Amino acid sequence: MNFENSISFAKRLDRTDPLKSFRQKFHLPKLKGKPALYFTGNSLGLQPKATKSYLNQELSDWANLGVEGHFHAKRPWLYYHKFSKKALADLVGAKPIEVVAMNQLTVNLHLLMMSFYQPTQSRYKILTEAGAFPSDQYAFESQLKLHDIHPEDGLLELKPRKGEVILRTEDIIKAIEANRDQLALVIIGAVQYYSGQFFDIKSITEASHRAGAHVGFDLAHAIGNVPLSLHKHEVDFAVWCSYKYLNSGPGGVAGAFVHEKHANKPDLKRLTGWWGHNEKERFKMKKGFIPMPGVDGWQLSNFPVLSGAAHLASLQLFQEAGIKNLRKKSVLLTGFLEYLLTSIEKYNDYFAIITNSNADERGCQLSILMKKNGKKVFMSLTRAAVIADWREPDVIRIAPVPLYNTFEDVFRFVEIFRDTLIRTQ
Ligand SMILES: *Cc1c(COP(=O)(O)O)cnc(C)c1O
Repeated sequence: MNFENSISFAKRLDRTDPLKSFRQKFHLPKLKGKPALYFTGNSLGLQPKATKSYLNQELSDWANLGVEGHFHAKRPWLYYHKFSKKALADLVGAKPIEVVAMNQLTVNLHLLMMSFYQPTQSRYKILTEAGAFPSDQYAFESQLKLHDIHPEDGLLELKPRKGEVILRTEDIIKAIEANRDQLALVIIGAVQYYSGQFFDIKSITEASHRAGAHVGFDLAHAIGNVPLSLHKHEVDFAVWCSYKYLNSGPGGVAGAFVHEKHANKPDLKRLTGWWGHNEKERFKMKKGFIPMPGVDGWQLSNFPVLSGAAHLASLQLFQEAGIKNLRKKSVLLTGFLEYLLTSIEKYNDYFAIITNSNADERGCQLSILMKKNGKKVFMSLTRAAVIADWREPDVIRIAPVPLYNTFEDVFRFVEIFRDTLIRTQ
């Protein structure tokens, strides 16, 4: 599309946006009484207006039914993990048997690494992107130590080429092939939280399997942001959280994917709990664990219904909007942001956009590397009621989210940003 640098153009895009009605389904935050420009759906998604009634349903069922709610609540609590399967399967490109809502992201990462990282004397290395999210780094390090492997020996952290920020797919493939005899697991943040790079899941998965390694993806910044095809691409496992693009509230219930090809392997090593046990026998309280087929067999505990209710409220909106339609708008919205930013006079003196310029290789987020006065600019944005995200040492992350952000939001942000740059130089 040929963008134009004007508010009337932004408003025209909003008027013709087929998803425009979704913004009204969210609570839009204020900053000191002023309506905020919100660009941190990559950190905490906004609250759908329907969330309260989903929660109230569970609160009143609990109040009125007590323990009987397990069977007689409007959505019986005993089966609550099943109610999100269809929506989650659509979001990650999976079959319902391959996805489940459970626990928290880092917990799920550990649980699935327990199964899919089974090092041997010769094949024990984990390959990941350098600068992975800290929680993931700690998880990798502790998993290696659990197996008495020194992280410096066992962890391969892939860095971009000198002077580059983005990892090239060809370099990832090369690194996988170079370590083919020692590689046990490749695990990558599908959309990198810092740079915003959307990795080539298909090529990385194929290369990992050719090398004889398992492959997993952390979808924290990918789910609800970009369409995925985990089943088709034969990814072994994936994990995600639900409070970022999935708008399910702070600390909301997370999720996991295990490919169908691993669905019926009771011997696969795993940490177990009663909710992963054959549901027909779950309440017989017998000895001897028999896993549910599919990813359900990795569940440990009974389901967190209250956070699951908030999850369902938001997933319903994704079902209505459709991830493919959202992506279509997202590409335009972020493209518009990029166009306006790079239209700022001498923008190169102030900042560089480090996120991939190819729309297929990024989600909605653009990471802006500030060349001077970054923190000052960021604080000044906050004073102007722009809610953005600061990452030390010098990056401002802006995520226009297609469910609730508008082209006008993007236009107004860039106006404020440009004025701030000029004032703080
Ligand atoms: C947000 C995020 C996390 C957070 O982990 P929790 O277990 O949900 O606290 C972990 N990894 C990545 C890549 C993230 O973006």
